[in-house]
Amino acid sequence: MIEEKAVILTSDEQRGLGHLVNGSVVNFNEPTLDVFNPARGTVIKHLEVGGKSAVEAVISAAEKALPHWRKTPAVKRARVMFKFKELLEQNSGRICELIGQEHGKIVHDAKGELQRGIENVEFACAAPELLKGDYSKEIGPSIDCWSEFPPVGIVAGITPFNFPAMIPLWMYPLAIVCGNCFVLKPSEKDPTSTMFIAELLYEAGLPEGVLNIVNGNHETVQLLLEDKRIDAVSFVGSTRVARAVYTSAVNQGKRCQALGGAKNHAVVMPDSDVDSVVNQLIGAAFGSSGQRCMAISVAVLVGDDLAEKFIEKIRLVSNGLRVGAFNNADNDFGPVVTREHKKKIEALITSAEDDGAEIVVDGRLFRPSDDLKGGFFLGPTVIDKTEIWMESYKEEIFGPVLQIVRVETLPEAIGLINKNAYGNGCCLFTGDGNTARIFSDEVRAGMIGINVPLPVPAATQSFGGWKDSLFGDLHIYGPDGVRFYTRRKTITQRWSSKKLSEEKQFSMPSNN
Ligand code: NAD
Repeated sequence: MIEEKAVILTSDEQRGLGHLVNGSVVNFNEPTLDVFNPARGTVIKHLEVGGKSAVEAVISAAEKALPHWRKTPAVKRARVMFKFKELLEQNSGRICELIGQEHGKIVHDAKGELQRGIENVEFACAAPELLKGDYSKEIGPSIDCWSEFPPVGIVAGITPFNFPAMIPLWMYPLAIVCGNCFVLKPSEKDPTSTMFIAELLYEAGLPEGVLNIVNGNHETVQLLLEDKRIDAVSFVGSTRVARAVYTSAVNQGKRCQALGGAKNHAVVMPDSDVDSVVNQLIGAAFGSSGQRCMAISVAVLVGDDLAEKFIEKIRLVSNGLRVGAFNNADNDFGPVVTREHKKKIEALITSAEDDGAEIVVDGRLFRPSDDLKGGFFLGPTVIDKTEIWMESYKEEIFGPVLQIVRVETLPEAIGLINKNAYGNGCCLFTGDGNTARIFSDEVRAGMIGINVPLPVPAATQSFGGWKDSLFGDLHIYGPDGVRFYTRRKTITQRWSSKKLSEEKQFSMPSNN
């Protein structure tokens, strides 16, 4: 158990957490927002909302750093990342505590998040290999042709609350080793771990101005999008905002990848081991209070016999889960992020009930211990007999809620997933290889799990959904990340000891 200290705001904190400009924290005396500890429902910090001065400061810092950084050899850029990885590991206890205090996730879950982020830093350490380019020798007489991958320029990253360490680490380590300078706008709900981690990158030897952070809200994002000096935008958040950010960025000639929300289905076939599937789905549905874009929010049960066994087991297991504060590692999951979000989830559960679905386990009835009674808690919720026309099915709930849809056949299950507006991830539980093959071939989603409930791709692959879960052409991090943060430049060059022909040539040059 991590001991929780009483929160007394220092005068700096009263003024509001500032912005990271050239590696130092700077304030501009702008209005502030409250940052909460969601397990207690109390304000623990204020955060300055970056306006014109803050946005100008971070972009100017990046602009000044860019000419030198883009020319720094990739091997030297990667060396900073090697050191950064060490510092992240050495400071993991403090980082997980900061994540827990503002997000609410339990310390073991925060450790997993950080580890996934570190794996992206490890991938970025391979920059000299990743950027070495493609070469074609002798494509014509004494002519060679090759592609290089220079940086895009200044990249803005806008990140959601649910992974304050990992999602920024999906973006800036790779963008920076590719030679870009980066401006990050973290979530206003839990910015402190993000700031702390960025300061570690400076401790690792990053030159001034290569990474800058502007804190704030949607207005801060608008200022970033309107600035002509921003060349590319990586966004992760809800679909409504992803669509708007993507449209605004591309209309202003910027490269953009915008990852949105999700409704991830797990199809359970009658030949699967129900006890094992329930244990896996419980973690995938309720871990982090269901506030993961890869959380399983719908179980599609094939056949009524399976459904009866599944429901009996999930009721039993759900009722034994421990919900509480981040600092007790025995807890399974914590609160949801804000009071408003809790109300929204409760309203969606009520709408499912009003629409005729059956509440098997009701998280609205959960009561935390007395010391946490101001917290934004909900218990696990399981809703059976969900129909696809219900509002609760169409909406992304983003809470500890698992909806059950019953079907008779695999094609029916696949059809259901393919009709859904989202296409982030989905998974199948089966004991049959052919069923697995049909499922992964036919289903329209970006990330598929076969007997794996949370198929989050490794850092060596790339992450992203289809349909309303991603706007743009390239997925985030991994090989697609390298392509997103670089531009291909192709050079065709002739050096010959023979004199160049003096004949004019009007036909298309070729090897004919
Ligand atoms: P959000 O969309 O409310 O906020 C994300 C970021 O956008 C924040 O930095 C916020 O300040 C900014 N923002 C909010 N409104 C804006 C506006 N109108 N204009 C410009 N910027 C705006 O998302 P959230 O609540 O922080 O995060 C949860 C959502 O993120 C869920 O929908 C979840 O599925 C999604 N998510 C998706 C992925 C993915 O990889 N697809 C990963 C994590 C989270």
